[in-house]
Parts: sequence; C-alpha cells; structure tokens
Amino acid sequence: MPRKPIEYNATITERQDLADGLAIFRVKPDEQSFETFTPGQYTVLGLNHPEKGSVLRAYSIASPPQTLPGYLDFYIRYVNRPTSDNPLTHLVFACQAGDRIHLGTKIRGKFTVDHEVGAEDPRLRVCVAAGTGLAPFTSMTFDHFHRFGATSQYLVLHGASYPRDLGYRHEMEELLNADAKKPRYFPTISRDPGSEPWAADGWRGRVESFFEEEKLRRLERAAGLEPGFVTPANAVVFICGLTGTIANTLTALLLRGFVPGELKVRNALWIPKDMPASLFFEQYDTEPVLDLKDEASLETYRERLRSAGVELERPAAV
Ligand SMILES: Cc1cc2nc3c(=O)[nH]c(=O)nc-3n(C[C@H](O)[C@H](O)[C@H](O)COP(=O)(O)OP(=O)(O)OC[C@H]3O[C@@H](n4cnc5c(N)ncnc54)[C@H](O)[C@@H]3O)c2cc1C
Repeated sequence: MPRKPIEYNATITERQDLADGLAIFRVKPDEQSFETFTPGQYTVLGLNHPEKGSVLRAYSIASPPQTLPGYLDFYIRYVNRPTSDNPLTHLVFACQAGDRIHLGTKIRGKFTVDHEVGAEDPRLRVCVAAGTGLAPFTSMTFDHFHRFGATSQYLVLHGASYPRDLGYRHEMEELLNADAKKPRYFPTISRDPGSEPWAADGWRGRVESFFEEEKLRRLERAAGLEPGFVTPANAVVFICGLTGTIANTLTALLLRGFVPGELKVRNALWIPKDMPASLFFEQYDTEPVLDLKDEASLETYRERLRSAGVELERPAAV
C-alpha cells in the first residue's frame, strides 16, 4: 500500500551539484518562524512518489542556525543500492531549484557539543566524517565562526573516495587552515585520484586510517599538536557516517583511552556507569556498530581500554 502523501511546506531554492550523486540542497521553509536548532541536529525531508506514496528520511543540517529564517542546507549522497523500494534520494535527486518538498517541523538529535560535553568544554573537538557525514561538522564550525571568529578548537577529518567528493573543502580550508602552524582540516581520499589534482604528500586512505597509531602521530605533528596529544584529557571525538567508519574509529581510539558514550557499546565493554564519555557518534545506517555476540573481539577491545589505563567493571553474573 502506498503511504499517504505528505504536505509540502518548503521550497528547494538552490541545488549545488558537487559530483555525480552528491549535492547540497538549499531548502527554504514557508514558515518564517521555523524553530531554530543546535549544530549537529537533524530533521526530516519528505517527498511523494506518484505511485509509491510518501517517504521521509533524516538529514543532518549542514548550515549553521544563523541562516534562519532564510534557509537550511542539506548535504546528500544519492544511494545507488537503497534498501527500500521508495528511496528518498532517488526522488530528491530528480528535484531542481523551485521544487517543493516537505521539511520536518521538529528538530531532533543529541549529537551536539552542548548535549555531549557542554559548550564550555575546552578540549579539542576531533570531528571524524566520511562522505556526507561532514554535515553536522560544517554546521558546528560555521556556527562557531559566526559567533566567535576563527578557532583551533575543531579538528575536522574528512574522508571521501575522490577529491571531487570532498564537499565543503574550500570553505573548510578557509575557515580551519588559516593558521599554517595549526591547520585544523585534513581531507583524505581512498581511491586513485586519476587526473584530479592531489598533492603527492596528500593524505590517502579512509578517514578512520588517521587513527592507526603511526598515522595518528603524523597527524598530531601536522596539526601542530604535541605527540600523544589526542587523549581524553585533551580531546573529545565526534564521528559521523556509516557503520564502518564509526566502528573502525571507535575501536582504534580505545587504545588512546577514549570512552564511548553509546549505552549498548558501554555495556558490552564493561565501562562503569559513572565514567564520563569522550567519544560520540551519529550513525546514518542501522548496522550494529559492534557485534555484541562476538565475545572474543569484545575482550580484545576491553584489553585496549585497560592498556590505556581505563578501569573496567565486569557486570555481576545474572
Ligand atoms: C540522524 C541521521 C542523519 C542523516 N543525515 C544524512 C545527511 O546529512 N546526508 C545524507 O546523505 N544522509 C543522511 N542520512 C541518511 C538518510 O537518512 C538516508 O538513510 C539516506 O539518504 C538513504 O535514503 P534512501 O531512502 O535513498 O535509501 P534507503 O532505501 O533508505 O537505503 C538505506 C541504505 O542507504 C545507505 N546509506 C544511507 N545513508 C548513506 C549515505 N549518506 N551515503 C551512502 N550510503 C548511505 C545505507 O547503507 C542504508 O542502509 C542520515 C541518517 C540519519 C539516521
């Protein structure tokens, strides 16, 4: 049965195609009094298919709150192999400037600096993004810039297949790499760039490879940080994207003592209830981040935390 059509309450005012199947959609709400939001949050976009009915999906807001009431930006990847029979990305990529769309009126999500650590937390905010997982971090960094000017408190790591897929690269470089001694934006590509320009010493590999121990030391050097700086005493980590990026970053950073905030992961790793979290994630798909039945792997991960001096608490047998 097709889902009931939804009402359109916003207009796509601009569509910026960055690469094949990768675009920024600018959406203007009809309602001037559209609720504001905290950078890192998301809302839903919805469209009606003529036969299959309506579809709604969550999208992080890529723009900062300061662009309201004018517009919100969404950074969206066309999904080639969707799991549903009415994928929203196939409808939204058929839209052009001027087309109407449904914009969720509720703003959702706790993946914000305010909620996770508090706005006053002075530590470095290491933001790890794969593909369109950059969206919450553009919102956070643009907002910070609007309110306080240039900052070295955000370290944004962005991974994509090819240089052309690194959306917002120019803006991130301008905002975060102005101080050559403390660059704070590091893009990396995982495929051969072919004829696209990419510095011979440019970063290569998926974004989570930044956390391989040797490479992490190189990154710290390149960012003007002390060797071994990236620990929970000095930094908090925010990760956004699909399961692989989240799982690989999280498990690598256990070695540096980073404690995940997510309850299921904490319980599986025997992290005491009152131990503060220093690693947070927003997941765009629904695969489990860790295989909670794979006791051998879980024990390896616990060992990583113990080796970093984190004291775990084995739950009482039930
Ligand atoms: C809180 C939240 C925020 C999100 N923010 C964004 C965003 O800012 N930009 C964005 O592009 N997507 C975002 N997503 C994903 C988005 O909600 C949809 O799942 C995605 O656009 C696919 O929808 P679909 O209907 O076309 O495909 P579906 O038929 O629903 O297929 C779902 C499958 O698509 C794949 N997929 C989902 N997201 C991506 C992606 N970004 N890149 C590659 N493959 C993907 C996954 O494997 C997933 O299993 C977010 C998801 C959540 C939960």
